[in-house]
Formats: sequence, C-alpha cells, structure tokens
Amino acid sequence: MSAAAPAPRTMSETDWNGHAGPVDGHANGMDIIACRTCGFRHAVPLPDAAALATEYAENYYSDAKPTYLQDARTDQDWAQLVQHDRLDAMARALGRKPGVLIEIGSGPGFFLEAATAKGWTAIGIEPSRRAAAFAQARGMTVHNTTVAEAVARGLPRAHAIAATNVLEHLADPVGTLQLAYDLLHPGGVICLTVPNDFSPLQLAARDAKGQAPWWIAPPHHLNYFDFDSLAALMTRLGFTPVERLTSFPMEAFLLMGDDYVADPALGRACHAKRKSFDLAFETAGLGEARRRFYGALASAGLGREATIVAVKS
Ligand SMILES: [Zn+2]
Repeated sequence: MSAAAPAPRTMSETDWNGHAGPVDGHANGMDIIACRTCGFRHAVPLPDAAALATEYAENYYSDAKPTYLQDARTDQDWAQLVQHDRLDAMARALGRKPGVLIEIGSGPGFFLEAATAKGWTAIGIEPSRRAAAFAQARGMTVHNTTVAEAVARGLPRAHAIAATNVLEHLADPVGTLQLAYDLLHPGGVICLTVPNDFSPLQLAARDAKGQAPWWIAPPHHLNYFDFDSLAALMTRLGFTPVERLTSFPMEAFLLMGDDYVADPALGRACHAKRKSFDLAFETAGLGEARRRFYGALASAGLGREATIVAVKS
C-alpha cells in the first residue's frame, strides 16, 4: 500500500493592481501569488517603497539580522569558497581581464574584498548605513544609498554586476535589474543569487514532515524565485544565462529529522556541518569535485540558493 498523498491545497486567485495568480502562501497580512504578469512568485499587496527604503537604511542589520555582520566575519574562511566560485564563473562568462565590478547590496563587503583580490575594481552599493560603514572601515568603496540614487549621482559603466540575496527584498526587482542592464557594458556579466524557494526539498518538508512553510517571510522577503523563474526574468530583460550554481541543500537536514527551523541552536549546528562538508573538499584538494557536485544540484533545480550567471546580450 502506498503512503497517503497530501491533501490537495486549496487554490484561490488574487488580482492586485494587475498582479494576478494563484495564492501559494500567506503570512503577515500578505498573500504570496504565483504572478502570471511577472512570471515569479511575489507578495501582494506590495509595500510602500519609501517605507522599505527606511527599513533597509536604518533597521535591517540591527533588528532583523543583529548578528549578521559579525557572523559574516566568522564565516569568511568558508564563504570565500562560494565568492571565488562566483567570481570565477563571471570571469569565464566575461572572457576578458577583470574590470569594474559593481555589487548591489554589498552588505559587509567581503565579496568586494574577494573581487579586489582577484584584480577587479570593486564598488559596492549598500543602503544600510551600518553595513556600508562596516565595509568602508575595511577599505572598500561603498556608496551608502540605493541603486537608483547611485546611478543618478554617477557610476562608471561596469563589466560585471553581482547581487546576492537582494532581489527577494525589493518591491521592484525588475526596475533594479533594468538599471543593472543599463550600467553594464555590452557583453558584460551579471551574477544574481536568490533563495531557491518553493523547491522540491522545501515542499517535501512541508508536505511530508508537516513543516510550516518557514521560507515565506514577507515583508522582508517579497519575491520568491527558483532557477527557472529567475532565468526567465533575466532572459526577458535582455540577459543570456550561461551558468547555474548553488549552495548546500540545507532543507535536507529537515528531511533527515533535524528541525533547525524550530531550534536556532540546531540551525547553527547544521550550518557548521555544511561548512565542514564544503571545506573537506578543499582540504583534500578536491575543490573541482565540490563545484561539480553543486553544479549537478543546480541543474536539477536543487540547492538552497539559485545563482545564475548571465551575459548582457
Ligand atoms: Zn506580479
């Protein structure tokens, strides 16, 4: 006898200011819809852009992520593996020596530092005063403002643009990507990383383990991409995707019984295990095997993050 299939989830439809599609989740007074207009899932109603700007300028790294900047420093020995993978993928796609790299949402600035070490002229744009000051204190060039303001004040044309865990926070991710497109030289590369949401592993945790859909987190996360919806958006805006990367499928811990969502201490333990996993390959001189492992996961639409490297057509 086969296991009982999960009960069908009731689908309702929402239409808000021309954003229409089935509702896939709900939290904090917002619906998450699979928007047919946008081609990706996002929250409705979308919050006021000015209120969002204040939140990220003043509060985000103190209220929502109080230990993030310090944790980033502690994690850097491990995090640089991923930073180097992305920088190497961008260099391959660009096919010329490093030039100007702009990071949208540069946070603590460690990616800028890794890029600088590889010969890029790295410039960060970071709305959070706290995060911008953290990176500036270590010698990074960071404009403490939004992308639109930084463009209005004048930025050099870029050969490469990166944005990690940024698009999911924006009320207008399309507008930001259009600015990025305009900033890039023809043939320039862009590397976007977002959480890989509504993934098969998350749905298995939800539907087989009874886990509440913890990844649905408006108003901080407004947009919910996976590899295909991110690639489709980039293609629509004039980019040609050339490579997919990802990171450890953290949800595997949930499926193996470690409920890190409910227990922050367990979350830290699971994070330590995935760092140990990644670093073991490096210690053994098998970094290429680690990259192939994650490349295969990414090709299957799996992994915690969706990273897509694309070229401005
Ligand atoms: Zn929409």
